[in-house]
Amino acid sequence: MTLDLTGQTALVTGGTRGIGRACVEALARSGARVAFTYRSSSAEADALVEALAEEGFETMALQSDAADAAGAQDVVARVTDRWGRLDVLVNNAGITRDRLMLRMSEDDWDAVIGTNLKSVFGYSKAAYSVMMRQRSGRIVNLSSVVGVMGNAGQTNYAASKAGIIGFSKSLARELGSRGVTVNVVAPGYVETDMTAAMPDAARQAMLGTVPLGRAAQPGEIAAAVLFLASPAAAYITGHVLMVDGGMAM
Ligand code: NAD
Repeated sequence: MTLDLTGQTALVTGGTRGIGRACVEALARSGARVAFTYRSSSAEADALVEALAEEGFETMALQSDAADAAGAQDVVARVTDRWGRLDVLVNNAGITRDRLMLRMSEDDWDAVIGTNLKSVFGYSKAAYSVMMRQRSGRIVNLSSVVGVMGNAGQTNYAASKAGIIGFSKSLARELGSRGVTVNVVAPGYVETDMTAAMPDAARQAMLGTVPLGRAAQPGEIAAAVLFLASPAAAYITGHVLMVDGGMAM
């Protein structure tokens, strides 16, 4: 069993930076043709397609807001029109709008649930009909330790990430007999733009709770995603793989 995805087609939501970008790179370097979505940064998306083309890999960037379920149908149709199949879906796009409950607005709630959780519904729904027809497919959803442990100031984010776990386990049960696996990767503290935006004191406090004593690099999360997308993980479904330096054990 290998991590070789030669001949396969993958789709990553929110692929221009951070963990999503690392997933695009890892999947492409393992042999898959990779499509990825982005919300607004066309220049970054084009640069990534070009950089991977220089390495000899075929990728495709598609602009679509992850929360838009009709957009998800359109993105998946464009991938299958071009490449004829869809083997791997990575639901990565995510945002934070951290505030204590007292100050959290309905808009903060809706934005985070829409981008983080509704997007997983939209893309999974668009992908699974293709995967069911193929009788094979891999869906890997990005949750977070916060979805398991909770975190003050992140009720909206934690709800979205816990929701992803319940959604994934349910879909894993629905699709198991069709040869489609659904798994979750739950990162701890990863060095990306998302965590760079946190106050320094909060970052230091979080680091103090990591037994391995450091933050993860995006590629360390992508390695877990690649494993779950690969033939090596054929008998794993409905699993939540914590990639957190021991934070949530
Ligand atoms: P990031 O902010 O660096 O990147 C997020 C990506 O999602 C970007 O490419 C962004 O453009 C995209 N995105 C955001 N909203 C979008 C939308 N509406 N439509 C399309 N794309 C959109 O964040 P990251 O740290 O790389 O996080 C990636 C995933 O991992 C998220 O789901 C996040 O919740 C999760 N995660 C991150 C950490 C961490 O410590 N960084 C920890 C646990 C979980």
